[in-house]
Order: sequence, then structure tokens, then C-alpha cells
Amino acid sequence: MNVGTLYLVATPIGNLGDMSPRAVEMLKNANIVAAEDTRRTLQLLNHFGIQNRLVRYDEHSKERQGPVLLAALQAGEDVALVSDAGFPGISDPGEAMTQLAIANGIPVVPVPGANAALSALVASGLPSTPFFFGGFLPKSKKNRVEQLAAWRFIPATIVLYEAPHRLGEVLQSILNAWGDRPLTLARELTKLHEEFWRGTVRSAIARFRDEAPRGEFVLVLGAASAEELAEASPQEAESAPEDPLAAVKALLAQGVDKKQALQQIAKRYKIPKRELYNALLQGAAETATGTAAETFETSAKAETKQR
Ligand code: SAM
Repeated sequence: MNVGTLYLVATPIGNLGDMSPRAVEMLKNANIVAAEDTRRTLQLLNHFGIQNRLVRYDEHSKERQGPVLLAALQAGEDVALVSDAGFPGISDPGEAMTQLAIANGIPVVPVPGANAALSALVASGLPSTPFFFGGFLPKSKKNRVEQLAAWRFIPATIVLYEAPHRLGEVLQSILNAWGDRPLTLARELTKLHEEFWRGTVRSAIARFRDEAPRGEFVLVLGAASAEELAEASPQEAESAPEDPLAAVKALLAQGVDKKQALQQIAKRYKIPKRELYNALLQGAAETATGTAAETFETSAKAETKQR
């Protein structure tokens, strides 16, 4: 029997005009519409005159609902997955359903449309290449500080999501961890009160000192500057661009958890985490030789060549 397809259908993040004709067709023709917020999606369906089977798939129900949707897909039904707003899979439970589908051989098809991160990035005025999407920072202060330390020297524009009631404390954590940086705050994108506030982290903190932030926000932050990298210890500054093992050690020295450090650097240098871990062990045994770092450079180059 033919299996169904999981369609990841983007919906507007504020302006209904951003709903694409293809997205409307998908929501009409799918056998099931799985939505993060069924009430909100029902309004959307009503607006476009769509009547379809609507089921819930959100953070709380995903463990239970995932297998139910998978069974429907395996039985040949097409499922259109929509999130609260924007592109499913970007900082929402869509990611989990996508992984479940792929793990079970179900085809996954994106139906593109609005997305808050990219909308903010392109209008931020900061370099859009390269950029790094960090989603929401951890809620606990300790984890947030660790996360920010791990990302301090990322040589890319950084895009983050944040709820308005946490914006002040998150900006303060960023200032403490990274110092002052260029910042664009994109607020209420595509809505009536859309606003781009461009300044720095410190001036944004001053801006919201007497006026609580309201609405939805995306933060677009400038990359670590050359001066910041130079201010870091010479070992960090020199090793950051070329030597993965030294980059891991630099993060460990900043107090970043070993697993996180390995994950981050493996991703940055496109090398297997296991290899990095082994080299770290080897490096500990051969501290003076530098052999492990060379092994890395070789394998990172080999990887790059294959691409
Ligand atoms: N999947 C969505 C997307 O594609 O953008 C994002 C979902 S995430 C749960 C929600 C966060 O996205 C909000 O807290 C806010 O940071 C950002 N966001 C969503 N809509 C926005 C808008 N209209 N203006 C600014 N930020 C928005």
C-alpha cells in the first residue's frame, strides 16, 4: 500500500495575505490537518472557506499524537501539519513530527511561506550571510549563561526568538556574556504595528527600562567583531577559525559543558562528534605533540572536499 505524505504547511505570522495559494490547496486536499493550536487554525480554515478534519498536535500532545498521525500516514493518508504561525519545524513541535516521519520512511514535503526569523534577518540591515539561528535561549539563567558562552565567538549574524516578558533579562544576559553588539529588534512582523528598532544591546536595554516590551519579537545580533576575537586569549583568537580541538578546549575553559562543546564544534567544522571526542582523549594523552589537532584539520579538509 502507498504511504501518505507529511506536508509542512507555512501559515501567516500576522498578515493573512501571506497565505499562499498552494498552502490553501494543501489544507483543503490533505486527509488530516494537524495543528498546534486548533482554535487558531480553525479561524484560518474558516477564513479561506476550508472544511477539513482538524486534529491537535502540540508540545503537550506530541508524544501521544505522533504515533497516531504516523499510523494515518502509513495507511496512505496525507497529513498537512501547521504550527501556531509561520513555518512548522522552526522552534515548534513540527520538528519532532518531521523526524518521526523520516525515521519511518514517510515522504516529507515543505510548503514554504512566512517565517519570523528570515523576515527579521532580511530587513535587519545586518549581514545575512552567514547567519546562525539559535531559536529561544534556555529559560533557566544558568543554562542561558552556558549557551551564550558557547555561542560567543560564532562568526555569523545571530537570530533569536524571545517572548516579550523575558526580553529585558535576555538582553542583559547577552550584554553580560558578549558585551555590546549591534542589534535589530523586529517586532510584530507583517502586522499593523510592525517595527524595526536598530541600535545595540545596551541601548535596547535602556529603551525598555521604562516601557515594557509588547508584541512578538525577533532579535538579530551582529557577529563577534574582530576586536572581540582579538580580545579573547591569543589561543582562542588564533584557534577559533582553524583548529577544532583548540576550539573545544576554549569552550571547556569558558565552563561550557563537554557534550555541548563537542556538539557545537563538530557542527561548525562539519566533522563527526565521535572523532572530535576521540581526538580530545588522544590530545589529553599527547598534550605536547599537537598530533590530534592535525588529524582534525586533515579530516575536516577531507570532508569539505567531498561536498
Ligand atoms: N514557526 C514560527 C516561524 O516560522 O517563525 C516560529 C514559532 S515560535 C514558537 C514563536 C516565536 O517566533 C515568537 O516568540 C517570536 O519570537 C517569533 N515570531 C512569530 N511571529 C512573529 C511576528 N509576527 N513578529 C515577530 N516575531 C514573531
